[in-house]
Amino acid sequence: MSGTVPEIPFLDLAAQAAEEGEALQAALARGVMDGGWVGGPLVAELEAALAAALGTPHVVAVSSGTDALMLGMVAAGIAPGDEVITPPNSFVASTAAIRHIGAVPVFADVADDINIDPDAVARAIGPRTRAIMPVHLGGRVCDMDRIGEIAQAHGLLVIEDAAQAFGSKFQDRAAGTFGTVGCFSTHPAKNLNGVGDGGFVATADAAIADRIRRLRSHGTTPSGVVEFGFVSRLDNVQAAVLLMRLQRLPSVEARRRRNADLYLRLLQDSPVRAVPERQHEYNTWSTFRVEAPDRDRLAAHLRQAGIQTAMHYPVPIHLQPAAAGLGYKAGDFPETERQAAHTLSLPVHQSLGAEAVARVAEAIGSFYRQG
Ligand SMILES: *Cc1c(COP(=O)(O)O)cnc(C)c1O
Repeated sequence: MSGTVPEIPFLDLAAQAAEEGEALQAALARGVMDGGWVGGPLVAELEAALAAALGTPHVVAVSSGTDALMLGMVAAGIAPGDEVITPPNSFVASTAAIRHIGAVPVFADVADDINIDPDAVARAIGPRTRAIMPVHLGGRVCDMDRIGEIAQAHGLLVIEDAAQAFGSKFQDRAAGTFGTVGCFSTHPAKNLNGVGDGGFVATADAAIADRIRRLRSHGTTPSGVVEFGFVSRLDNVQAAVLLMRLQRLPSVEARRRRNADLYLRLLQDSPVRAVPERQHEYNTWSTFRVEAPDRDRLAAHLRQAGIQTAMHYPVPIHLQPAAAGLGYKAGDFPETERQAAHTLSLPVHQSLGAEAVARVAEAIGSFYRQG
């Protein structure tokens, strides 16, 4: 940390709150004054609004994206010892959720579009494979046609980690509605964000939705405790804020998409490479990643220029100390490892104006001209 406040921050949650102003105040008051506080009618109202937005029959709100993955997997029937195929270039929570329910993460490398490679998924299937967990990284939806075909051919469940992709679409269908369950996070850093932790599961299966409903609150049902559960309820303040923000999301998405388009145009002739939106996708750009030669020096150059960047993710999960027991080593996933060494995420958030995007692009240009 240089100690200086970046002029162009990677995220600007204070700017978001300032823009929302009275709407945010009203939502906070609604969440508190409603008197339910945990799991009241506001949560049910949010679940209905999210289900309508996604075009899915059921949404169950929980207290984080990680819990959405864990409870979603348990409710879908994934048991200890089952193998779940997932990419090593995700946020660590995808793999952690698999471990925490006693299942076994099996990694499959990614393709040059940064998402899990369906061919690598097919190669990773073995006798104990129970599910595929694709991750829609940075808002880019995985090839759900291919993944769905592979899952069907092998009788596998699909657990979508859509934590970074609320609002994104693949062939006009919402990310998170392809799998047995679609798991979302409303952490403050996501596009649809609360003022604290939160998450939810989307599913077309009523029995799975019911099971998550009881698992999130001690396993209690009207006919007693049929299985021991957890504590993973969404509170009403988050529900009220998310209801307000869901209405404003189209504007957030439009500005993020404009910023991403601008980057794609302005960086066209620079040495950095970004994967543009492809014809069959609608990307909400929760992060805007580029592959940059000499990445670490570029990041330092931008920091000097008052521009904050991030990396998603510089150390793949299979090379993290926590993964030592999983039996992987450097070199196992060459494409993931190559991308990890070059990936840089540029600020793309909705509070960023076109001039700021142009300044970032100009600073990148000046770095490579300097050589
Ligand atoms: C944010 C995130 C999660 C976890 O969400 P939390 O709400 O922080 O638990 C899981 N997977 C991915 C890909 C994420 O980006």
